[in-house]
Amino acid sequence: MRVLIVEDEAHLANLIARVLQRERYEVDVTYDGEAGLARALGGRYDAIVLDRMLPGVDGLEVCRRMRAAGVHTPVLLLSARRELDERVQGLDAGADDYLGKPFAFTELLARIRALTRRGDRPVLPAVLRVGDLTLDPRAHRVERAGREIALSQREFALLEYLMRNAGQVLTREQIRERIWGPAAEPESNIVDLYIHYLRKKLDDRPESLIRTVRGVGYMLRA
Ligand code: CA
Repeated sequence: MRVLIVEDEAHLANLIARVLQRERYEVDVTYDGEAGLARALGGRYDAIVLDRMLPGVDGLEVCRRMRAAGVHTPVLLLSARRELDERVQGLDAGADDYLGKPFAFTELLARIRALTRRGDRPVLPAVLRVGDLTLDPRAHRVERAGREIALSQREFALLEYLMRNAGQVLTREQIRERIWGPAAEPESNIVDLYIHYLRKKLDDRPESLIRTVRGVGYMLRA
């Protein structure tokens, strides 16, 4: 079992790491959101212990971007705040569980065991189908009319977002915020660029799949 810890309080991060290692988990530790996100996107972990308050990219944002990129590793969010809406925000961002600080290590271990067990259960989203397109978030696989299409992580996340909202117009702002996060430059044409890449790869030359809604954004036809 591999666990990633993302926690900027080095003392606490190292303490959690030692407790987990004693239980024979393999552990990686990062001390900020940027590095944590890179690890989460690149590595194969069975669970991620993610602090909510991090310098730079915070825990909620790390979680949102991971999910947008199609990474479904179970996340246990740590937070000093105990209020209900904080909890709801965490779950909305795609966290699987929530633990308020300070916590007992026995509880942390129990939560991690529960999360990693969940791996066997179909908590992960099922295969999405729209027309002759299928997208499997688990296998990170896209097919059009039975032909596999290789997509980059961003392209995959963008297509997943469009497919989950098929038949609805998504504004450029919504897409940019969801796929690139609030830090993306509003005046950049990154959304149009990636739609162009997607259309090319999907062989959507008559633009029958992804419709441009002039002055607003894009829509995948249901
Ligand atoms: Ca913190």
